[in-house]
Amino acid sequence: MAREFSAGGVVLRKMRGSWFLAVIEPHMERPKKPTKGRGPRPRAAATVIALPKGTIDKGEAPEQTALREVTEETGVRGELVCKLVDIKYFYVRSWGDRARVFKIVSFYLLLYRSGRLGDIAPEMRIEVQRAFWLPLKDAPSALSYDGERKVANSAIEYLEAHPELGTHATNTAH
Ligand code: ATP
Repeated sequence: MAREFSAGGVVLRKMRGSWFLAVIEPHMERPKKPTKGRGPRPRAAATVIALPKGTIDKGEAPEQTALREVTEETGVRGELVCKLVDIKYFYVRSWGDRARVFKIVSFYLLLYRSGRLGDIAPEMRIEVQRAFWLPLKDAPSALSYDGERKVANSAIEYLEAHPELGTHATNTAH
């Protein structure tokens, strides 16, 4: 079975006293051609809300991948705090060899440092439809994938155990 390894990040930012995290709406595959005339209309693809992540390049440490992918996909830069969890899932490639893939994604906790959400390269807009700040408390229900909901819960637990993170001066906006 094919295997893939990716890494991603939960970027936290405190704004007006509450925590938010950077999430993306990835561009999902859509029907190539709209159905014309009669017959059922193509169903609009449901909106997916996901964490920024991407493939670990050769020679790259997973935490570097997380920092790089967060910036590429969201436009903001974060500072590494710690590793959160690894999530695992299977999927079937919808292109090429249509192989069944076992994928492991390592997630890291980052604190917002600089940059503007959505300030991404034009070519990245093919992958990312939108990036926005989601209230952290909503993330365990708003994220689309079970594994990523667990990641959000683990970020919430980390914050509860480390309340000093909220006093980080450069991270907060009032
Ligand atoms: P990457 O962002 O790591 O470069 P990618 O965009 O090529 O990867 P994935 O995001 O892993 O690929 O998506 C491949 C398939 O897996 C899609 O069908 C997607 O809906 C599904 N998928 C993505 N994340 C998860 C997850 N956490 N749990 C289950 N399925 C997922």
